[in-house]
Amino acid sequence: MRCVSFPLIAALQLTLLSITHGAKWTYGGPQGEHHWSKHYPYCGGTFQSPIDIKSELLRFDPTLRPIEVQNYNLSPNEQLTLGNNGHSLQISLPSKMHISSLHRRFTAAQLHFHWGSSSRPAGSEHTVNGKQYAAEMHVVHYNSDKYPNISMAVDKSDGLAVLGVLVEVGEFNPAFDQFLKFINGIKYRDQKVQVPGFNIRTLLPERLDEYYRYDGSLTTPPCYPSVLWTVFRNPVTISQKQFLSIATALYSSYAQDSALMPLHSNYRKPQLPESRVVLVSFKEGRGLHGTLTVTSPLTRKRLIQQLLVGDLADLADEGLYQLLPSGSQKLHAGKRKDHKNWLSENLAKPKQQLLNPSLWKKSQTNRYVGKLGLAEDTMCYVSLEQRVFHQLRQSHAEKRLVQTLRNTVFPELNLKSYLEYDLFWINTGLLIPILVISTLGLVLIVSIVCCLFRQKRSAADQNRGKSAGYNLGERDEYGSRV
Ligand SMILES: [Zn+2]
Repeated sequence: MRCVSFPLIAALQLTLLSITHGAKWTYGGPQGEHHWSKHYPYCGGTFQSPIDIKSELLRFDPTLRPIEVQNYNLSPNEQLTLGNNGHSLQISLPSKMHISSLHRRFTAAQLHFHWGSSSRPAGSEHTVNGKQYAAEMHVVHYNSDKYPNISMAVDKSDGLAVLGVLVEVGEFNPAFDQFLKFINGIKYRDQKVQVPGFNIRTLLPERLDEYYRYDGSLTTPPCYPSVLWTVFRNPVTISQKQFLSIATALYSSYAQDSALMPLHSNYRKPQLPESRVVLVSFKEGRGLHGTLTVTSPLTRKRLIQQLLVGDLADLADEGLYQLLPSGSQKLHAGKRKDHKNWLSENLAKPKQQLLNPSLWKKSQTNRYVGKLGLAEDTMCYVSLEQRVFHQLRQSHAEKRLVQTLRNTVFPELNLKSYLEYDLFWINTGLLIPILVISTLGLVLIVSIVCCLFRQKRSAADQNRGKSAGYNLGERDEYGSRV
């Protein structure tokens, strides 16, 4: 059991207070995004969203399947709640809507928007190579295979999956008018109206097979790093008039407030990608020819497995160098053979000197995770990395190697959306052979024992039979003789 310190309890209480009492936050001013982390510590942590989706972060992953959504086509008889929560325009979604193409079922909960202002039609949260779109729609889903509702899922590492749609000003979009025509009914904070259901699929871009994928967070407090992000490559368009109706109709204030604050520019600025990569489901097309391909799931699985069991010499022999991206600045200067030798030496050879202790300083995430007492059980993105580095530390691996792993291998391996899947298969992959071998072994042992026992018994019976027969015969003979 972890030792619970006073600061930890204080931080936990502060966080719980912030959550339960909903500490005020805004996009600007004294409660603006730079101050969010005072009340919501995760906002100052890692795995934060949005990010600028830059070309150098991209890795092509051929295993990314097209997004498939189910029951998005709602009947007009199904009433949806359109609301203004003071931060955004939000539409509640029925639980029959879900994403079916991920490794778990993700059930829809709501969709909402972020947008710019009438004077600056640039309000998307994700940007692509620095380009900010006019607006962005987020369709929020939770992992309903694992959690009973969104409240239970929201702070879990595998809790949420959000579909992000970039919106640019251009052609009129009839799908957006399905709810924009009711926007005057929700001008003020906490106002809600019922709107007839419509085909939510029509709000998404036509192509659902081209997207960016990365691990990130809620883009509003409490900023839990619990989101598997899918940002579609192709934007949808809305007309200038439609954009202006979103950008000018709403207030973040209550109807009774004396000073009304218009609701616009409700986007968070891009966060640091840190050690993350962005997977892409497409390779062809503009500017993506040089995109690195992500390590295959099988190789990744094997590497994780080897790193976890600490079989470092084998790992070097089997070619850790193969995993290093071809564009890797540190090791690509030499020949691959050199890499292999270098890694073999560094991995296999125990070092006399211990590693620089500063290397093992806990990351910011770890500090927050530790503070909140959520650690491995709930917010465990870093736990695998920690376990591997623990293994390396025990084997006195060299600082340079550790840094190489940190810089070049982990960005790919540390994709939390992959880890569960991979570890699941690692566990299942190991478990099944272990079970089969154990069962076969047990059957074999039982068979051998039975066989030996039978042999022994039949030999004993034979001997007994012989001796009994002899005796009997003898007795008979004797008897007959007697
Ligand atoms: Zn959002």
